Amino acid sequence: MKTIANFIDGAFVVAAGGRVFEKRSPLNNELIALVSEAGRDEVDAAVTAARAALEGPWGKMTVDERVKLLNAVADEINRRFDDFLAAEVADTGKPRSLASHIDIPRGAANFKIFADVIKNTPTEFFETATPDGRGAINYATRRPVGVVGVVCPWNLPLLLMTWKVGPALACGNTVVVKPSEVTPQTATLLGEVMNAVGIPKGVYNVVHGFGPDSAGEFLTTHKGVNAITFTGETRTGMAIMKAAADGARPVSLEMGGKNPAIVFADADFDAAIEGTLRSAFVNCGQVCLGTERVYVERPIFDRFVAALKAGAEALQIGVPEDPATGMGPLVSLEHQAKVLSYYRKAVEEGATVVTGGGVPAMPGDLAKGAWVQPTIWTGLGDDAAVATEEIFGPCCHVFPFDSEDEVVARANNTEYGLAAAVWTRDLSRAHRVAARMEVGLCWVNSWFLRDLRTPFGGSKNSGIGREGGVHSLEFYTELKNVCIKL
Ligand code: NAD
Repeated sequence: MKTIANFIDGAFVVAAGGRVFEKRSPLNNELIALVSEAGRDEVDAAVTAARAALEGPWGKMTVDERVKLLNAVADEINRRFDDFLAAEVADTGKPRSLASHIDIPRGAANFKIFADVIKNTPTEFFETATPDGRGAINYATRRPVGVVGVVCPWNLPLLLMTWKVGPALACGNTVVVKPSEVTPQTATLLGEVMNAVGIPKGVYNVVHGFGPDSAGEFLTTHKGVNAITFTGETRTGMAIMKAAADGARPVSLEMGGKNPAIVFADADFDAAIEGTLRSAFVNCGQVCLGTERVYVERPIFDRFVAALKAGAEALQIGVPEDPATGMGPLVSLEHQAKVLSYYRKAVEEGATVVTGGGVPAMPGDLAKGAWVQPTIWTGLGDDAAVATEEIFGPCCHVFPFDSEDEVVARANNTEYGLAAAVWTRDLSRAHRVAARMEVGLCWVNSWFLRDLRTPFGGSKNSGIGREGGVHSLEFYTELKNVCIKL
C-alpha cells in the first residue's frame, strides 16, 4: 500500500510515530493509500522551513527570476498532466473528461496568470503639495506578507489550491499547504514538480491531516504563520478567523454558498436549461458556485421543470474512464451520508421529487461507492431545509415566481452571498437584477465563465476578501507607502 508523505523543506517526510489515515476510493470504497498525518512537530518544521526560505534564496530573488520559475512550474504540471489527472481522478472519482478540461489545466494556468499579474501590475504614485512649496512624492511598494498558511477543500483540489499558491508565490511569499484529508494526492505531487524545476526548498510545503486537533488547527494557530487563506465550509472559516485573531493575522476566506439561479420567461430557454443543468450537476454538484435554488418565472415553470428533469435523467452516471460519463460519485461515503440526509429531509418536509432522490443501482463493487442520483424537487417553501442550507450535492429545488421585485428579494433572502445566475434577454433587466443581487459574482446568461483577472469571493457568510488578478496581490502583499520630502 502506498503512503502519501508530507512535503517539508523539499523532502518527502513521513510523520514521526508513523501516524497514518486511510484514503479510500469514492468509486467503491477500496483503500487506495495511507496518508501520513502531520503532528505539531511536522507542522512546526514546515513553518520553520518556509521562514528560512523566505529569509534565504526565495526572498532574495528578483521578480523576473521568480516569474521564470513559476512559468516552469506550470510547464512541468502540463508535462506531467497524466500523473496529475490520475491522482485527481483517484481521489475524487470525477470524470476524466471534466478533470482534464478544468482541474489540471486550470491548476497549471494559476501559476502562469499570477506570474503575469505580478510582472505587469504597477503600484501607485502621488505628487503632494507642501506649505514650503517644495513638495513631496509618494510611491507604494509591495512586499510579501511572509509565510502563508493555505487550507484547502476537496472539491477542486489542485485548482483551488494553486489559485492561492500561485499568487502567494508570485508575490514572494512561502507557503505551507494543508490539503483536504479527502484529497491528499495532487498537492503532494506538486512537491515533485517544485523540486524538478528548482524552486528552493522550503518555499512550498505540504502537511497532511484533519482540522481540529490536527494539521489544520496546528497550522492556523502557529505563531510563525503570517496570513491564512482558506477555502471550505463557512463554519470552518469562522473557526479559522478566530484562530487568526491571535496575532491579528489577515485572512482570506472563500466559504459556502446557497446560490440562486433566476430564469425569466424571456430567457433563451435552451441556454438556461443547459446552464442550469451544469450549475446543479457538474462535479456531482460539488462546486461552491453551483446552483441549489432555481427560481423560474411562472409562465415557463412547468416546461422548465420538465426539460430540467429530462436533462438530469439523461446524465450518465459512471466511472471516470468512460467518456460517456456525465456524473461520477460524491467524494466520500461520509459526504454521501450528508447528501442523502437532505434527500430524506426534502421528502419529510413534503417536497415533490421530480427526479432522483436516492442512490443509483451500480454494478458489482461500485455498489459500495458514494453514488447518488441527480435530484430535483419542487413544492417546498423558501424556508425548507433544502432551500436554505448548503447541501453540496447534485440537487436543486425549483420555485415559481411572478415578479422581478419578488424574485430578487427571495433570491437574496439567505445568509450566503457567493454567486448567482440570471437568465434573461432583456438587457436593462439583466443590469438591474445583477446590480441588486447580494453576491460576489453574478453571471448573466452563463455560469462558471471565469476570467482569472476578475475579483472572486463571496459576500455575507460566503467569504471575506477577494482573490483573482490584482485582488490577490492585495492579500498576498503588504503595501508600503514611501513618502519623500523634496
Ligand atoms: P471543510 O471546511 O470541511 O474543510 C476545508 C479544509 O479545512 C480541510 O482541509 C479541512 O481539513 C480544514 N479544516 C477543517 N476544520 C479546520 C479547523 N478547525 N482549523 C483548520 N482547518 C480546518 O470544507 P470541505 O468539506 O473540504 O469543502 C466543501 C466546502 O467548501 C463547501 O462549503 C463549499 O461551498 C466550500 N467551497 C467554497 C469555495 C469558494 O470559493 N467560496 C470553493 C470551493 C468550496
